[in-house]
Amino acid sequence: MAGARDGDICRHAARSRLGACGAGNARYALCACESADRGRQRLRRFFRSGNETQRSAATARSNRLGSILRWEMPTAKNVVPVNTRIPMDTPVLIVGAGPTGLTAALELARRNVPVRIIERRDGPSILSRAVGIMPWAMDILDASGAGPLVREASQPTRRLEVWSGSRRAASLRMDVDPDPHVRLFCLPQNETETILASRLSAHGVTVDYGQRLDSIEETEDAVRSTINGSIHMASYVLGADGVRSAVRAHLGQELRGFDLQSKWSIADVDAPEWSEPGVFRVFLRDDGEAIFVIPIGPTRFRAVASVPDALAAMPVPIPVTRVHREGDFIIGIRQVGSYGRRRVWLAGDAAHTHSPVGGRGMNLGIEDAAEWAERLIGDRLERGIDEGYSVSRHVRGQEIIAFTERARRLVARRAGLGRSLALNALGTLGNMAPLNRAIARRMLLT
Ligand SMILES: Cc1cc2nc3c(=O)[nH]c(=O)nc-3n(C[C@H](O)[C@H](O)[C@H](O)COP(=O)(O)OP(=O)(O)OC[C@H]3O[C@@H](n4cnc5c(N)ncnc54)[C@H](O)[C@@H]3O)c2cc1C
Repeated sequence: MAGARDGDICRHAARSRLGACGAGNARYALCACESADRGRQRLRRFFRSGNETQRSAATARSNRLGSILRWEMPTAKNVVPVNTRIPMDTPVLIVGAGPTGLTAALELARRNVPVRIIERRDGPSILSRAVGIMPWAMDILDASGAGPLVREASQPTRRLEVWSGSRRAASLRMDVDPDPHVRLFCLPQNETETILASRLSAHGVTVDYGQRLDSIEETEDAVRSTINGSIHMASYVLGADGVRSAVRAHLGQELRGFDLQSKWSIADVDAPEWSEPGVFRVFLRDDGEAIFVIPIGPTRFRAVASVPDALAAMPVPIPVTRVHREGDFIIGIRQVGSYGRRRVWLAGDAAHTHSPVGGRGMNLGIEDAAEWAERLIGDRLERGIDEGYSVSRHVRGQEIIAFTERARRLVARRAGLGRSLALNALGTLGNMAPLNRAIARRMLLT
């Protein structure tokens, strides 16, 4: 938009949630987000480009409409090279090829930063673990070209139903936001990983399977890693190696917190006659236990229960034609105190775990990875206590842990007057389009 001034709202917004325009070397954008911080993050991602980093950070102002960002486009003067402390002959080492490690590797590779990603498994995972991909994680996948492939392969959620025992108590549309981006897409985690790995190989990087990190030792200007008994030098190391992280052990960090006492369970099933595609159902039992049935394909569903044996726990039987996988698991509500230092860092489950209620775990790991890569490239991993990667991600991790814990406690309410009133209110709100939209936005954008 020619002649735009700082603070102008772009009326040529391509999308209602995020619009941008430019004048000379300056670009302006409006992001109507639920919080100023989120708006700023999203705008920065929107303007991230190529393998260059802008010297001046964007200036952002926020008001109740959202955040308005002024961003200087790179010119010969203000472009700075990629972090000069990353030697081109000593790759960055990413440990673990789950969604976090693959995202980090892809974010670096697409900006031509030399990277090696190792995985102790002999090949790609077949586990479907996380299924829900939030719009804010999709923003990151879009930037690397993985987003459209994920969208195409996944099952969008159309409706959320809350059942009290065997009675449907409330129904919310999840596909009503005018911004088609504000949706929940469901895809088994191993398929998301396959897409990320294929985008990574398009940049000439393949996962080194069958390679296990044994130990690391930091020197002044590099990290010496022992992988399958051989020495490997890296400029930086990211531990995306999950809950039992060896990198975290090296850093001497503990995942502090607690485990939930009861076992949870999961079952992936085919059930062609269960429900129309795209309907996400939450069953609240009278005893305060809950079962979530998530559509992960046209006729495939994932049941997750707060008790063992998800299928047996259902108040309404699912007509299952095939069980792909069943199992029980323990949930930890935990986080490290520090996400790393100097040349060795943590991201994803290596740094935090929480309940699957709300489906945030993989999404948070993807977000950690993208922020780490961006800070590494911009030489901003450590800078003051307010801005460093560790502080920033710790705050975000706490926000997500608090959100998922609130959601978990909410669904764990026993049957009674309080729960009936809450469900009635939700049912009424679900029938009012603007309120339905507001609730869906709140669920998807946190
Ligand atoms: C049953 C279940 C359901 C879930 N549902 C959801 C959901 O709906 N939505 C959501 O967002 N999240 C969900 N999650 C959480 C989600 O699966 C995790 O948050 C996510 O997998 C974390 O990704 P990551 O890459 O950080 O770690 P991981 O996926 O654990 O990957 C770590 C990788 O590092 C490798 N590794 C470990 N040690 C080494 C080593 N020394 N050397 C080399 N490689 C190593 C491992 O083999 C592994 O492949 C669920 C989890 C479970 C268990």
